[in-house]
Amino acid sequence: MTRMPVLFLGHGSPMNAIEDNRWRQGWAAIAREIPRPRAVLMVSAHWETEGVFLSHTDAPETIHDFYGFPKALFDVRYPAPGAPWLAERARDLLAGSGVAVSRLRLDPGRGLDHGAWSVLLPMYPEADVPVVQLSLDRSLTPQQHLALAKSLAPLRDEGVLVIGSGDIVHNLRVDFRQPAPLPWAIAFNEKAKALITAGDAEALADYEALGPEAVASINSAEHYLPLLYVLALRGESDKVGFFNDDVFAALSMTSVMLGDISKAA
Ligand code: ZN
Repeated sequence: MTRMPVLFLGHGSPMNAIEDNRWRQGWAAIAREIPRPRAVLMVSAHWETEGVFLSHTDAPETIHDFYGFPKALFDVRYPAPGAPWLAERARDLLAGSGVAVSRLRLDPGRGLDHGAWSVLLPMYPEADVPVVQLSLDRSLTPQQHLALAKSLAPLRDEGVLVIGSGDIVHNLRVDFRQPAPLPWAIAFNEKAKALITAGDAEALADYEALGPEAVASINSAEHYLPLLYVLALRGESDKVGFFNDDVFAALSMTSVMLGDISKAA
């Protein structure tokens, strides 16, 4: 079976699910370029838990976990099937990670949040690729997230596409009516890209040591942590590609592909 690439997708606003814009087109283009996955394991910024949870249902519901958006967005349904086999496989791998987690649990009630479906809808509009979500355990350190994620590496050889969905730069405390990118947001986005290219996941995990630009850009961290899950799965022969490499205000759409890359720009 072909070794699957790994993707980090800067998801930005939920409206990207239904607006025709270049980021949405970028996600759709990547899905056409890479091998068709047997299933997706999604690590979204929008599922934070105490302990590690995996969605475990045949038919995950579409969760509309936002306010103040048009009805058209609340009307979106993404009826992709779940993949209980993948949830169980991932649980077993995570259990062998050596990271002491408070709980490691299959969650039969969990659906797909907008961090998952807003990118999967453009990628796989037929909703015919099964999806499992993996939560972010907020009691773990970034280094523990990295160590936990490394245990998932065998999935790449089992036809599973691991996607981290967040934003490398994500600080909603700034005024988004001023879309010009803030200097510190650009500075950290560029620093992060350089460290990703260099393969220095440890430096990216120790982000508080990367200076005030990093601390301001990462803010509450849930949008940044999915990046660590992706970087943890980098193999020695993998190349790095960036796409949707845009920053506005204090949010970056920059997306990363690791793998045998021929077309990613
Ligand atoms: Zn988000």
